[in-house]
Amino acid sequence: MTKANPYAVAQQQFEKAADFCSLPSTVRQILSQPKNELIVNFPVKMDSGDYKLFKGYRVQHNNLRGPYKGGIRYHHEVTLDEIKALAAWMTFKCALHDIPFGGAKGGIKFNPRDYSPTELERITRRFTHALGNNIGPEHDIPAPDVGTNGQTMVWMMDTYMAFAGAVSEHTSRGVVTGKTLAAGGSHGREAATGQGIVHCITEWARDRRFELNGATFMVQGFGNVGSHAAKILARTGASMVAVGDWKGYVANPDGINPFKLAEYVARTGSVVDYPGTHAIAREAFFATEVDIFIPAALELEIGVAEAKALKAKVIVEGANGPTDPSAEPIILEKGIALIPDILANSGGVAVSYYEWLQNKRSEVWDLEEVEEKLAKRMKRTYLAVSEFATSRKCDWRTAAMCISIGRIAKAYGERGIFP
Ligand code: GLU
Repeated sequence: MTKANPYAVAQQQFEKAADFCSLPSTVRQILSQPKNELIVNFPVKMDSGDYKLFKGYRVQHNNLRGPYKGGIRYHHEVTLDEIKALAAWMTFKCALHDIPFGGAKGGIKFNPRDYSPTELERITRRFTHALGNNIGPEHDIPAPDVGTNGQTMVWMMDTYMAFAGAVSEHTSRGVVTGKTLAAGGSHGREAATGQGIVHCITEWARDRRFELNGATFMVQGFGNVGSHAAKILARTGASMVAVGDWKGYVANPDGINPFKLAEYVARTGSVVDYPGTHAIAREAFFATEVDIFIPAALELEIGVAEAKALKAKVIVEGANGPTDPSAEPIILEKGIALIPDILANSGGVAVSYYEWLQNKRSEVWDLEEVEEKLAKRMKRTYLAVSEFATSRKCDWRTAAMCISIGRIAKAYGERGIFP
């Protein structure tokens, strides 16, 4: 399938919400472009001894409400426009939750699967060095995204600290979030995005008096987000009947154990050929009869054809921007509920905020405390979006966007633009 430009899609969603809530034109102009777009080309020594040049990006969309915040993506199809879209979605995600962060995103255009761990470490450290003071614990705070993880963040932190100097070494710990526990990460961060998705699903089910025990679901993308969402959702008694990733799709109407599948994926790199499942085509995956669909892969995977095929009752956007705007009316007309990305996958950045706070205060919160705070925040924001959508008679994406840009507009209104 040919995909639209993600930045054009982000713009379209923003314009729709801005029209709906009559956003002042100054704020509309400011938010329609990122503040800073940084591109760095940097050489890295490969295991062979040869050098290779890499292209890295960091887009800082907005920092009115707090430091720029957002993940770092390692993927061979990374483009500036993709990173710009993802950075804008971070601004809206943080403001929706009333988290005092702005929005940013970064990435390197390469396929991390083609490189050794030692090469990945050198690529990450060189990239961090190239970013220099464009990141910082009070300025711009990266986190994991597609193709990166806790280890990537620890390499970034360690490299940043080495240049921060002895006196500010430990106050630099919060330069990245999503770190491993040993390096100062937070309990609950790794599973947080998946956990947040399941909070949305349980709220949705409660509202509609829908019984999750015995329900069916399918997941596209079985990385950090998809696998944790599947494992946590399985605890409610819901059963995963289809799953797919970059390599292919598999199904089993009697259920696929997400815990065992995650172990298999850790060993083999993909869900394909998982024992007890049969291979299905991408088209058949989208047409699977399920109650819940969690897209947790890349953006714009749900186009018109996919929307027409879908039979789910609810789509919970684990990925950022998985739905093309042309597919959205089809989904809504079919009566399928759509819980938008900036709400559905916001558990990750919420716990990133908790990690940053713990680092700042030299505290370590236990898992129960983090989970309790996350549950409360997700439910509160879910309710706010639900009430807005009902009272203002709009779709949930527009509702979430309006709450978010309304907060940003209020701050601009009171602060004004200097000089
Ligand atoms: N990459 C994640 C996202 O898209 C997490 C960002 C963060 O924790 O800063 O929301």
